[in-house]
Amino acid sequence: MKGKYDIVIIGAGGAGMTAAIEAKQQGMNPVIFEKMPVVGGNTLKASSGMNASQTKVEAAQSVKDSNDLFYEETLKGGGGTNDKVLLRYFVDNSASAIDWLDSIGIKLDKLTISGGMSVKRTHRPHDGSAVGGYLVDGLVKEVKKEKIPLFVNTDVTKLNETNGKISGVTVKINQDKTKKIAAKAVIVTTGGFGASKKMIKKYRPDLANYVTTNQAGATGDGIKMIEKVGGYAIDMNKIQIHPTVNQSKHILIGEATRGEGGILVNQSGKRFYNEMNTRDKVSAAINKQKGKYAWVVIDSGVRQRSSAIDFYIKDKLDVKGNTLAELAKKMKVPAATLAKTVATWNKAVSSKNDTEFGRTTGMDHGLTTGPYYAFKIAPGIHYTMGGVKINTKTEVLTKQQQPIPALYAAGEVTGGLHGNNRIGGNSVADIVIFGRQAGTQAAAYVKSQE
Ligand code: ADP
Repeated sequence: MKGKYDIVIIGAGGAGMTAAIEAKQQGMNPVIFEKMPVVGGNTLKASSGMNASQTKVEAAQSVKDSNDLFYEETLKGGGGTNDKVLLRYFVDNSASAIDWLDSIGIKLDKLTISGGMSVKRTHRPHDGSAVGGYLVDGLVKEVKKEKIPLFVNTDVTKLNETNGKISGVTVKINQDKTKKIAAKAVIVTTGGFGASKKMIKKYRPDLANYVTTNQAGATGDGIKMIEKVGGYAIDMNKIQIHPTVNQSKHILIGEATRGEGGILVNQSGKRFYNEMNTRDKVSAAINKQKGKYAWVVIDSGVRQRSSAIDFYIKDKLDVKGNTLAELAKKMKVPAATLAKTVATWNKAVSSKNDTEFGRTTGMDHGLTTGPYYAFKIAPGIHYTMGGVKINTKTEVLTKQQQPIPALYAAGEVTGGLHGNNRIGGNSVADIVIFGRQAGTQAAAYVKSQE
């Protein structure tokens, strides 16, 4: 580890690695510090895909979409409380982010749909795998190819300042040695705080007992460090509960499971809500069921169309039945009711009219092919919408809306883009779009100082 780099990037999740690659492409000499022993952060757990509009993938599959529609649906999903300027930048730069990923060998050329969206704009890996692992693998490969130094077990504990500018960081290596690293600019990509019981309790005491899907390193470090140098955080009480989380292993049953045709049933074997509504609403609906849980029910067709399901099955999160009756027995729900629920659902699929709950998406296929699977789920803490305030250049702002010189932030550590409810598929888009922008802007700043 050297004592000086052009740009220090804090956190090796999707946003951090993207920013590093972009900065390197702009001729910089960046370094990435990751506090955990492994890279990937919460990005590794992303399951649905990456939302983007007006892409070549959509065009090739004749999906009619527009940046304006993407904007409107994200704003609606966020309860109208999104930072509209960030959101505009986000949708307008989504297609080029897909192209950029493509240019470094990350091919998201399959499409699915996520809750709150009306068209297929969730871009998924061409091999059908979960997006997080695929994206992290691809980014790591590029980081290596570009020879960007990346240090794990390196916890950044402080942002250092000289003459009113950020001038580097202090790191703790292997929980032992402390070192000061100088930098011409710093990009904070430390992710959210969904794994910090203390912060959850502080901002949302009502969620203190929820399980979290977050990795252990998601403890809000970046927010705290930025607050110490004059930045500030917004929307800290806006915490996303994901509706479908396995409660014993804290593993998320991804939204694509529903997007590809899965339904939710309660312990009486009945559907109770539009499964493709936004995460906040679906979570609230599940919490209204007896026992505050439900089942995601799928058939072999859904399993085939979404290969992440193989991992859930490998993790033994499912119950399985060769027939619906056998599945009902394993779920301990009334078999006749489940049979009726699925028959009614299949009719809704063929007539494209869900008269019961008004679902309109994820209805390309009915549940018709055994074996059938069910995953018992309940809501869990998934994502923290709040975070530090940035502008579209990813500059970290003071309360007076002044950029803090040489300080940038991107990804889940930032707040505002998603409003009070993040749409599935928008976090991967966030980290790629704003990660790239952070790399670009930090590089431009460094060059302007030379
Ligand atoms: P994003 O989706 O915004 O990229 P992730 O959760 O995927 O966020 O990645 C954030 C990464 O930052 C994680 O790997 C996390 O362990 C790391 N991280 C968090 N705090 C620190 C810190 N203080 N020093 C170094 N790395 C950190």
